[in-house]
Amino acid sequence: ALYLKALEVQGFKSFPDKTVLSFGEDITAIVGPNGSGKSNISDAIRWVMGEQSTRALRGGKMEDVIFGGTAKRKQLGFAEVSLVLDNTEHIFPNMDESEVMVTRRYYRSGESEYYINRRSVRLKDVNELFMDTGLGREGYSIIGQGKIDEILSVKSADRREVFEEAAGISRYRHRKEEAERK
Ligand code: ATP
Ligand code: MG
Repeated sequence: ALYLKALEVQGFKSFPDKTVLSFGEDITAIVGPNGSGKSNISDAIRWVMGEQSTRALRGGKMEDVIFGGTAKRKQLGFAEVSLVLDNTEHIFPNMDESEVMVTRRYYRSGESEYYINRRSVRLKDVNELFMDTGLGREGYSIIGQGKIDEILSVKSADRREVFEEAAGISRYRHRKEEAERK
């Protein structure tokens, strides 16, 4: 089955040091006191999957994802997150590898880097990778606080997008729209 194997964060929000979270095939729960960084972990997953909305990332500007320093520690110059996904069942159709690792790095200078299995790629490639796996950031795999209400109440066109992603047809709609623009 498609599942998250690991998440590596370094310099992201409240994680200045390289931190590796390994997930099993079973249910994983992240627990901790208020302010300990639980939501920052789901932000990291959203971010590495290509999220561009700083509001969705609970910040004002993209730089806010970089560790901003504490009384004891200097701010860092960049944030990096890697997400490792199982691909033994080839859920990512264009990837031969049994594991898919997606990496995003962002520098204070404003420069972004994206990698798929350590190969430098564009944001567009990351978006296309996730499109229609059901893992896309517009899909149903990450349900944030308030998202249930949104699915129940948003405009029918937005709701339809969620179902299109789930049904695996958004890739085709996306390609069609792209072709029409040319
Ligand atoms: P709650 O249980 O209240 O939801 P939580 O475990 O979800 O808490 P988070 O929201 O993940 O907590 O983490 C909040 C902490 O992350 C705050 O202490 C905040 O200062 C810190 N933080 C957020 N962005 C940065 C940053 N860029 N640099 C350093 N620390 C940051
Ligand atoms: Mg929280």
